Amino acid sequence: MQRRDLLKVASLAFLSTISYGAATSAMPSKHSKNSTLVNNKKSKPKVVVVGGGWAGLALAKHIKVFSEESDVILVEKRDHFVSCPMSNEWLVGLVDLEFLTHSYIDAAKNNHYTFVNATAIDVDREKNVLMTTEGEIAYDHLVFAVGIEYDYFNWTKEDKALEQRLRSEYPAAFVPGSEHITLKEKIKNFKGGNFILTVPKGNYRCLAAPYERACLIADYFKHQGIDGKVIIMDESNHIRIKDKGFSSAFEELYKDKIVYMPSAEILEFDLDKKIVKTDFDEIAFEDASFYPNVKAPAILEKLQMTRTTPFNRVEADIDQYTYKVKGTNNIYVCGDARPMGFSKSGNTAFSEGVNLAQMIADEIHGKKPVWKSPVTTCFSLLSTKPEREISLFTEYIYTKKGGMDFKNNITDEAWKTNGLGEAKVAYSWAESMYKNMFA
Ligand SMILES: Cc1cc2nc3c(=O)[nH]c(=O)nc-3n(C[C@H](O)[C@H](O)[C@H](O)COP(=O)(O)OP(=O)(O)OC[C@H]3O[C@@H](n4cnc5c(N)ncnc54)[C@H](O)[C@@H]3O)c2cc1C
Repeated sequence: MQRRDLLKVASLAFLSTISYGAATSAMPSKHSKNSTLVNNKKSKPKVVVVGGGWAGLALAKHIKVFSEESDVILVEKRDHFVSCPMSNEWLVGLVDLEFLTHSYIDAAKNNHYTFVNATAIDVDREKNVLMTTEGEIAYDHLVFAVGIEYDYFNWTKEDKALEQRLRSEYPAAFVPGSEHITLKEKIKNFKGGNFILTVPKGNYRCLAAPYERACLIADYFKHQGIDGKVIIMDESNHIRIKDKGFSSAFEELYKDKIVYMPSAEILEFDLDKKIVKTDFDEIAFEDASFYPNVKAPAILEKLQMTRTTPFNRVEADIDQYTYKVKGTNNIYVCGDARPMGFSKSGNTAFSEGVNLAQMIADEIHGKKPVWKSPVTTCFSLLSTKPEREISLFTEYIYTKKGGMDFKNNITDEAWKTNGLGEAKVAYSWAESMYKNMFA
């Protein structure tokens, strides 16, 4: 057997270990010959999706729906999925962890794509190869659906020690994982006093979630007889979404449990004394969860695929109609990592994943891809006994000047009359989304 043939066999062996639903371990390794094989011009169209969140899962599934002949590989650094939507409900014991947790292996098996449990670390744009901690993967189309990371810069500048303390002592719990568990323990063990939640400026992940979280924590304090207050320090001068519903709930349900502070940007943290300072106030706290600004993940920065937008310091640099990274013809970004002013939410990311899958399939089939608006549907629970909810639905249009506007915008903030029905719909929405992504 020739050396080249041997390499082919070795490559096939590697590929078979990542075929449908199989996961690989996390040791960095080099498999450059595999990518050469996969990248063969005669092979099927190869679509590689980095990030198994709401956008990535929708994409991986729907590429196979719209372009069955494609090989689809989903690269995700976590080995299982935990949902952020409904995690506020989990924090106060309304749903269990099983409701939120799902298997990437099942998602891949049921929807006929390949799951690779690895972290994407680099891209060779010339050769169309993605480098991961598990080896190299060739692509024809590469999508980054990598969500967001926290941007502590406005608070901490270059003070990494402060950033580290904020991350570990007062985690934001806006990406899934340990932070949520820590926050749940904080709520459970809270004995009284001020519990601070912050709402960042810019386009942050899930506009409604900090306000919903405040309501649910206040509701928990109320029912547990805890003499505590939730202080919402909002960097904006108004509630960013469903203003009527949230402000009436703060006023009517939680008058003695929630203090809403608009334009309350923290300028200084004294974590030893447990005090935060704004331009006007000094607030002492017993406990807190500090939610900083968000930004596009570091991998996109490293790959020089980012820019500053009016919303955030670092966001993906893509064309807003095609999702293509500027200067490339086959690398895309979608989901919360996108720079457009759409809601950074799961339903939006999911529908965008479906739309982009259609556009990539159209390219594969030689058709002209057409942009479609993503769809935002967002439910927020206000209270638990009885469960009351408010909701919002919207789509988007681009204006002639290239800006963005809302289309078919409907909000239902009448929680006293419609809230019971909304609450039921919220659980069914989550269930149907999980089913769509994993079953
Ligand atoms: C408390 C809370 C409540 C929310 N409630 C709602 C709600 O009710 N409704 C709603 O629609 N939305 C809600 N959201 C928002 C929703 O969770 C996000 O908008 C959604 O997760 C965005 O999907 P995404 O695919 O863009 O990003 P993500 O879901 O964050 O997925 C990104 C994935 O990429 C992976 N990744 C990142 N970098 C790499 C890499 N280099 N290599 C491999 N993998 C990588 C990550 O591990 C992650 O799994 C809520 C969020 C929070 C925090």
